[in-house]
Amino acid sequence: MSASTSATLRHDWSLAEVKALFVQPFNDLLFQAQTVHRAHFDANRVQVSTLLSIKTGACPEDCKYCPQSGHYNTGLEKEKLMEVQKVLEEAARAKAIGSPLSEIKTYLDLYGDHGEGRAQQLQYVITRTDNEITELEKKRAQIDATLAELRVINGSCRGLLAERQRKPKGKA
Ligand code: SF4
Repeated sequence: MSASTSATLRHDWSLAEVKALFVQPFNDLLFQAQTVHRAHFDANRVQVSTLLSIKTGACPEDCKYCPQSGHYNTGLEKEKLMEVQKVLEEAARAKAIGSPLSEIKTYLDLYGDHGEGRAQQLQYVITRTDNEITELEKKRAQIDATLAELRVINGSCRGLLAERQRKPKGKA
């Protein structure tokens, strides 16, 4: 491995070294990137993220490549900055419907090398979401039942308290 592809973290890159990276063959770059990645992370672990645009077309920053920036007309309809509560709700929803890595692997395996497993893949997603819907509906039924019980207890306590407050002092 050359000095420029060492897995050691560096902050002293010269312009010539950076330029030299860009003229390398693609597979060499892939190999070097893998080497650095493996030196710092578990080679076969990936993080899956969900993106949410909270300031579509109206971001005050000027990152030249990004269509969300309000500095350019990219044809996007501008939206107001999303409210914090809405962002939190979306984050909770994304977390709740997230898939573990094993499931994502199954999903990709079904697709095959040339997309020939697309129908099975769709069926897999249907089954998975059916199961998830059933589970969530069960949880909702339990939550509704608990809410109903709590409302009865709450109402009963309020009634008792109001009764006590109406009675003259000294009587239980
Ligand atoms: S313009 Fe920059 S900061 Fe704004 S959304 Fe795009 S990448 Fe992010």
